[in-house]
Amino acid sequence: MQYISTRGGIEPLKFQDAVMMGLARDGGLLLPQTLPTISPEKLESWRNLPYQYLAREVLSLFIDDIPALDLEALVEKAYSSFSHPQVTPVTKQGDVYILELFHGPTLAFKDVALQLLGNIFEYVLERRGGYMNILGATSGDTGSAAIAGVRGKKNINIFILHPHGRTSPIQALQMTTVLDSNVFNIAVRGTFDDAQSTVKSIFNDLEFRDSYQLGAVNSINWARVLAQVVYYIYAYLKLRKQGHASVDFSVPTGNFGDIFAGYVARQLLPKGCINTLILATNANDILTRFVNQGDYSRGQVQVTSSPSMDIQIASNFERYLYYLRGENGAAVKADMDGFAATGKLDLTGLREQVSSDFRSLSVSEEETIATIGSFHKDYGYLLDPHTAVGVKAALELRDASRPVVCLATAHPAKFGAAVTQAIGQEPPLPPALADLESRESRCTVLDADEKVIKDFVAQNALRA
Ligand SMILES: *Cc1c(COP(=O)(O)O)cnc(C)c1O
Repeated sequence: MQYISTRGGIEPLKFQDAVMMGLARDGGLLLPQTLPTISPEKLESWRNLPYQYLAREVLSLFIDDIPALDLEALVEKAYSSFSHPQVTPVTKQGDVYILELFHGPTLAFKDVALQLLGNIFEYVLERRGGYMNILGATSGDTGSAAIAGVRGKKNINIFILHPHGRTSPIQALQMTTVLDSNVFNIAVRGTFDDAQSTVKSIFNDLEFRDSYQLGAVNSINWARVLAQVVYYIYAYLKLRKQGHASVDFSVPTGNFGDIFAGYVARQLLPKGCINTLILATNANDILTRFVNQGDYSRGQVQVTSSPSMDIQIASNFERYLYYLRGENGAAVKADMDGFAATGKLDLTGLREQVSSDFRSLSVSEEETIATIGSFHKDYGYLLDPHTAVGVKAALELRDASRPVVCLATAHPAKFGAAVTQAIGQEPPLPPALADLESRESRCTVLDADEKVIKDFVAQNALRA
């Protein structure tokens, strides 16, 4: 299996090179040159596989430069950190199925991908020699999942910037109480955007980037998407065993990463297994406007109770655009150059295709809180606000003739304020969060200034 860029400007790469490259050198995103397919017979042979075995099978369709036994060990190690024996269990609540993706170490679905990515980085570096200094900015979930994915790993240091005093207290503590010597938390004075733009300008200094072997962990890495494809197939097989040959999924979306993994899963499986993909957004509705009107234009970011979806530019959107444009890299490049210049992309000509690929709804704050409240009242089941956005969209858009699976992307206790508002009491803290406040924490407070951050990284980075 070879990997190419959505903008058509690089020579094909093997999987290991694609993972280490992250963003393609021509500014595009990496994708497999061709998508494999899973025959009905093969699918049938997978029906009773535990999560780890299924993951190994699915990953090996896309990875031919890691020996099978090594891949098995990587997968085993990645998911041994999950607290549920099924890794991503499916439950039924009222009219919908819930795919619980929050049983990893930081209680959000990003662990599914980042636990695996951390192990793959370590594996490749060990084999090839070399080291990596990961640098990233976070508004909350990504940072803690990335830190949990690489803590204590050989040949990797990680530097994560978060806005001082502006993440939820739990989110900050989930990062700063990790005391491994390869983890550096930096609280910057300013907003998430200040942190993010500082990181971007450091990555744009190519000399600095190359001399410190800077690595990124945001959702543009292909291995993250690939790890997420697995749970769609896992959930599909669970429902199939209950007699459902065709299912829908509802996905709360920000960066288009998780829903793109669903799109890939649908392409892999025999036709009709996954029917509709429901793309659910909060008040930041750029993707809903795109699906429903063909208008992809950037707006102002609005703050909501589902902060991990408070995004206006969906970094994985370009991967879908590549298929929409008939796998024409030059057309994608022209689209993305146009979008960078004007903040707008008119895709009304492709609306028919888009509306056969997705259905979409933007869910308001009131609806989100009301959905958390009614699920608690009717079924005694707590939804986090991100999950509630997806559940609300599923209830509105579902087709009653097929089951709909809603992706539960975070544990409700991670977003206690919204849950408290919905049900009038604080959600109980799971063991992973219960003693956070009493743990020792370590963090450096710095200005959101390129030179200041560079100096700190230079002092603490791994070097040849
Ligand atoms: C990151 C995140 C999302 C959005 O996922 P994308 O892949 O960016 O679409 C949804 N819910 C939670 C809890 C998240 O952390």
